[in-house]
Amino acid sequence: MWTLAPVAFALKALSAFVQPLALPVQRPGALLLWLRAALRRAGGGGRPAAAPEGAREGPRRGEADGEPPATPTSVNYHFTRQCNYKCGFCFHTAKTSFVLPLEEAKRGLLLLKEAGMEKINFSGGEPFIHDRGEYLGKLVRFCKEELQLPSVSIVSNGSLIRERWFRNYGEYLDILAISCDSFDEQVNVLIGRGQGKKNHVENLQKLRTWCRDYRVAFKINSVINRFNVDEDMREQIRELNPVRWKVFQCLLIEGENSGEDALREAERFVISDEQFEGFLERHKDVPCLVPESNRKVMRDSYLILDEYMRFLNCRKGRKDPSKSILDVGVEEAIKFSGFDEKMFLKRGGKYVWSKADLKLDW
Ligand code: SF4
Repeated sequence: MWTLAPVAFALKALSAFVQPLALPVQRPGALLLWLRAALRRAGGGGRPAAAPEGAREGPRRGEADGEPPATPTSVNYHFTRQCNYKCGFCFHTAKTSFVLPLEEAKRGLLLLKEAGMEKINFSGGEPFIHDRGEYLGKLVRFCKEELQLPSVSIVSNGSLIRERWFRNYGEYLDILAISCDSFDEQVNVLIGRGQGKKNHVENLQKLRTWCRDYRVAFKINSVINRFNVDEDMREQIRELNPVRWKVFQCLLIEGENSGEDALREAERFVISDEQFEGFLERHKDVPCLVPESNRKVMRDSYLILDEYMRFLNCRKGRKDPSKSILDVGVEEAIKFSGFDEKMFLKRGGKYVWSKADLKLDW
C-alpha cells in the first residue's frame, strides 16, 4: 500500500497543476498526447524521417511588423492530396501521396487546440479516400470527443461516403460540405466530376437525406467557372436547403492549376469578376448564399495546413509552405502562413459553426 503513496501524491500534484490550465486530464488519450508534445517541445522537437524536404521561408507575420502571432481559430487541414475526381480547376492537386500517421496527425491537432483552434475543417484531395474514410472518422471523433472542439467539419466531393460512416462517426461531425458545381450532369462531366455511371447530383440528394437522418449540418460549395457561370441553380439549392451555400470564383494558383510544374491547366475555366458578379446577382435571393471572390485579401483570410502540417502561404499567388507545426510548433510556423486575421474576422470567418448552436430543424 505504501508503495502507491508517492504515485498517488504525484497524480494529485499533477492534477492540481493541470486542472487550472484546463488540460485534458479527464481524457486519457489527449493527456498522453499532451504529455508527449510537451516532452518533445522540452527536448527541442524534431520529427522522424517522414519530414518533407525544403520547407521554404515565406514572409513572416509577427516579427517584422511587431504584431503578436495570429491565433489559428479556424484551420483547414488538407491531410491528403489523393482524389478520385479530376476537376480541371483543382487547386490542391495530387502532387504527393503522403498522409501523416494517425498519431502524428492527432499530436498536431492537439498543438493547434492548445494554440487556440476552435474549428477544424478536414479537406483534401478527397478526405474519404484514405483508408475508406476510417482515418478521417477517427480524426473527427478525436477532435470532438478528446479535444472538444466547438466545430468539426469536412469538405468532400461526396462520391465515396457510405451510410455506415454516418452511423459510426456522424454524431461527432458538425458540418458536411459537399462540392457541387452544377445540377447538369453533362456540365459535371465537362468539369471533371464525372464518375462513370454514378450521377453526382443524385448522390448529392442521398447525402442530404443522410445529413438530416444523422443530424449533421449540410453545406454546399460551388466553384463558378466558364461552364456553369450561366446556370440558374436557385430551385435546386432551395430544395436541398443547405445551412450555407459557399460560392467561389475559379482561382488560378501557380504550381497547382497554372504554370509549368502544375498538374492542371485551369486557364480555360477562368471567368471575369463581372461574370462572377452576374452569377451572384442572379442568385441574390438565396438567403444561404455566401460569396467568395478572388480578391487577394480574401485569399489570405484562410489558414491552410498541408499533408505535412505545414501552413501554406498564398500571398504570392502560389502555395509556399512554412515549416511543419510538428517540428517548430504552431506559433513559429504561423508566422510564415501569410494569414490575415483581421480579414478573417471581417469576412465573417467566425460564424455559428457548431451544430448545437445552429438550431436546425434538419
Ligand atoms: S473533387 Fe476537389 S480535390 Fe478532387 S479533383 Fe475535384 S477539386 Fe480537386
